[in-house]
Amino acid sequence: MTKINQSVFYSKYISDFFFHSCPALTINCSRLFTFAAAMAKLKKIHLLTGANLGDRFSTLEKAAQLLSTRVGEILNISSLYETEPWGNVDQPGYLNQALEMETPLSPAQLLRATQQIENELGRTRQVKWEARLIDIDILFYENKIIESPGLTVPHPHLHRRNFVLVPMLEIAPLKEHPVFKKTIEDLYEASEDGLEVQICQILRI
Ligand code: AMP
Repeated sequence: MTKINQSVFYSKYISDFFFHSCPALTINCSRLFTFAAAMAKLKKIHLLTGANLGDRFSTLEKAAQLLSTRVGEILNISSLYETEPWGNVDQPGYLNQALEMETPLSPAQLLRATQQIENELGRTRQVKWEARLIDIDILFYENKIIESPGLTVPHPHLHRRNFVLVPMLEIAPLKEHPVFKKTIEDLYEASEDGLEVQICQILRI
């Protein structure tokens, strides 16, 4: 018997032994291992949700609910902040909210999940800086730097936009930007963005 065949044989033998002698223990152990494996793979992420059309409060609430069921546990969620629109200024003000979450999803899976939620909440993609029912940006995925065709992380504009920095300041002031090696606090101090961001409702889930 080769070494590989030998180890397959022994592991099968051992698992058969446990299963036949103590099936409940085996099932509980295997559940425990699956749970431990899932826990070990959880990644910390930061997202920003935004809306400037329709019932903005209800849209952001639904987005947070869908994120918690499809993406993972919400560890921390900011108040809602209202900001004048950036870019195309001839449109209603934005409501924004930052979320710190844990997810088992890969970056690509996470982008697909957030885009699916945007679509379900009525997002259409047409013009840059157009008014929108919902926008979900991936700000950070752990401390990873990702440059792929559909996904740039950290989000490329986050360090220059007060509507991102202010909600993040509330939930993760010491989070370090992996490219600039500066905390959210430092980035906000250095921000030259003139748009005013006002807290508008304390919301905790
Ligand atoms: P926006 O209109 O600002 O929501 O941009 C949406 C587009 O940005 C989508 O095509 C995404 O694939 C792309 N994108 C690139 N990086 C990110 C990111 N970090 N978070 C969300 N969308 C991103």
